[in-house]
Amino acid sequence: MNERIYLSPPHMGGDELKFVQEAFQSNWISPAGPHLDLFEKELADYNNTPHCAALSSGTAAIHLALIMLGVKQHDEVICSSFTFAGSCNPIVYQGATPVYVDSEDSTWNMDPQALRSAIEDRIRKGKKPKAIIVVHLYGMPAQMEEIVAIARHYDIKIIEDAAEGLGSLYKGKKLGSFGDIGIYSFNGNKIITTSGGGALVSENAEWVKQAKFLSTQARDQAPHYQHSQIGYNYRLSNISAGIGRGQLKVLDQRVARRRAIYDYYKKILGGLPGVSFQPELPGSVSNRWLTCMLLPATSKLTPETVRLALEKENIESRPLWKPMHLQPVFNGTPYYGSKASEDLFARGLCLPSGSSLTDAQLEKITTLVGKML
Ligand SMILES: *Cc1c(COP(=O)(O)O)cnc(C)c1O
Repeated sequence: MNERIYLSPPHMGGDELKFVQEAFQSNWISPAGPHLDLFEKELADYNNTPHCAALSSGTAAIHLALIMLGVKQHDEVICSSFTFAGSCNPIVYQGATPVYVDSEDSTWNMDPQALRSAIEDRIRKGKKPKAIIVVHLYGMPAQMEEIVAIARHYDIKIIEDAAEGLGSLYKGKKLGSFGDIGIYSFNGNKIITTSGGGALVSENAEWVKQAKFLSTQARDQAPHYQHSQIGYNYRLSNISAGIGRGQLKVLDQRVARRRAIYDYYKKILGGLPGVSFQPELPGSVSNRWLTCMLLPATSKLTPETVRLALEKENIESRPLWKPMHLQPVFNGTPYYGSKASEDLFARGLCLPSGSSLTDAQLEKITTLVGKML
């Protein structure tokens, strides 16, 4: 059997093990430690976001962001419908209700018009949303200028879910730096990984300080263990941060390789009738975390047929994210938009996009897919 080609496997740069060994030699296995502080500083510098808290996951980062924005039971929080469940589950952890907003065709991300309608309708119904979670899906920047303007107009805070968008640019600035709070994920399948982890960034030093406090069980200043608030065990370990420091060094190379992989798929498959890819608007530079192909609207060929054919060759591919408003667990949840994400979900397939993919593997996948179209 051919060696399996994964969708987006971890890809170490070389210095990760050295940093982990340093942690072992100094016995900074836990708690915290120098790699953790340096990882936060290096990540903040990379993104030009002044303050940063390294956490155990991207989901944990969104959870803490919601807590700091005061989201409580019976509140409503707007979230992109076209996303991974990690974006919105923390809304429910807080006892609040998600309000889903659909995508626009031009970025596949939150449609600013639908966002405005959602906010106005919720206000009319007597419930102003407490926060907006906007996702940069597959690394593609959402239209932040419009979205930030709408949020400011209604005085609603933004949590920017850049879990998939680390290294992408919008109007020359890194994703994660546009919201009141930005979050990243270093899960194993993301563009860089700490084996599992996340981060929260903000210009607001107080929030980041609070995130670190809450992520370490909310211990008050006292020699004994005293608590005036409910805390969480959400801090990243010094070992994981060491891996992260090694990965940050190669992040720009990873972005370049993923973009080259996208360019190749586009060059070979993009010319076939009806085939298209996630569009990139002028002013946006996606990290192309995953290359996602749309099959012709008129074709009888389904993404599942292509996926199964690739699977036969031991190649992993995956349908696009199933929109949250279609998920059984969110049945009956408020939803606004034009169902653009439903069409994307029906026609789309994520192709292997890992930065360690070889040219020969890429050619093989492209030939297999091309023959089916
Ligand atoms: C991966 C991901 C998350 C969650 O990150 P974890 O580190 O896996 O908890 C949140 N949002 C999006 C869009 C993601 O892709």
